[in-house]
Amino acid sequence: AARQKGSGTVAFYSTEIQNKIMEAQGIIASFLPALEAHEFVVYYQPKVDVNTNKICGAEALVRWMHEGRLIPPVQFIPQLEREGSVCRLDYYVLEETCRFIRKRLDEGKKVPCISVNFSRRHLEEDYLVKKIVNVIGKYGIDHGYIEIELTESEDFQNYEIMSEIVDGLRSEGIATSIDDFGTGYSSLNMIKKVDLNVIKIDKSFIPMETEYPGKETDMVMFVSIVDLVRKLGKKTIAEGVETKEQLRYLRQVGCDIVQGYVFDKPMPESEFEVRLEQGYKDEE
Ligand code: C2E
Ligand code: MG
Ligand code: MG
Ligand code: MG
Repeated sequence: AARQKGSGTVAFYSTEIQNKIMEAQGIIASFLPALEAHEFVVYYQPKVDVNTNKICGAEALVRWMHEGRLIPPVQFIPQLEREGSVCRLDYYVLEETCRFIRKRLDEGKKVPCISVNFSRRHLEEDYLVKKIVNVIGKYGIDHGYIEIELTESEDFQNYEIMSEIVDGLRSEGIATSIDDFGTGYSSLNMIKKVDLNVIKIDKSFIPMETEYPGKETDMVMFVSIVDLVRKLGKKTIAEGVETKEQLRYLRQVGCDIVQGYVFDKPMPESEFEVRLEQGYKDEE
């Protein structure tokens, strides 16, 4: 923790915190040059309809190719989120996604709707809907190709803002989803107040296939969430599905769409294109 020295305002931090601050400053200082140098790379992870085994969507997930290393988002998104430049990054990912969709369409190929993660920091932005529409418009693609993933906020007042944004996007034909559903402190409030299209159930709610204490509770909760979401007329996506056992279970309880390592990890554009051509075999 920071301590005050005498009457001055110089704060001392533990070396661990000091290192974290230095690291965050390093990330923030490298951000704009990295953006200009196209060091951020968009990976895609398929979403699969559990009833047909067909790819029905994908999620765009960013990685940072920095000095020969591929850095995962957990190592830079939180810092950029605190400082605010995450918004620039999200627009970059949206552009890259639109460029990819445009390319596929120009080649006469099929491409599913792709979701892009938008940080809660965008809630502070003016004209968010307009800005998103403008980016998509630059590429001349149908709005239905893009979905925006939002995460819930701890702030009650934000529900109102979020609701306005979600309704605004819907009126433009752009779907929205809530990410990591169930992990926030007031998830039920969120689905009550904000009319989202898709609920992405966080991986921590998906029962494991092995026997373990509390499994029964996990199953009751999972089935109830799926049921609730369906009754509200929304779609469920289960994320982080890793095994075929889990997949069979999800199919049984009526979950619509699955995203997870059981099908594929997020992959670079070229690999994703191969997957789009090949699809999945029925038994996969
Ligand atoms: P998220 O949006 O909830 O994305 C799902 C994460 O779960 C991804 O991690 C994905 O690779 C991982 N995942 C998918 N299937 C499985 C599975 O079967 N098992 C396990 N254990 N994990 C699975 P990733 O790509 O490392 O991204 C982490 C988080 O970083 C994302 O969570 C999202 O919150 C954030 N993020 C990623 N890209 C962006 C972006 O462009 N903008 C913003 N604002 N945030 C982003
Ligand atoms: Mg997401
Ligand atoms: Mg998620
Ligand atoms: Mg997450």
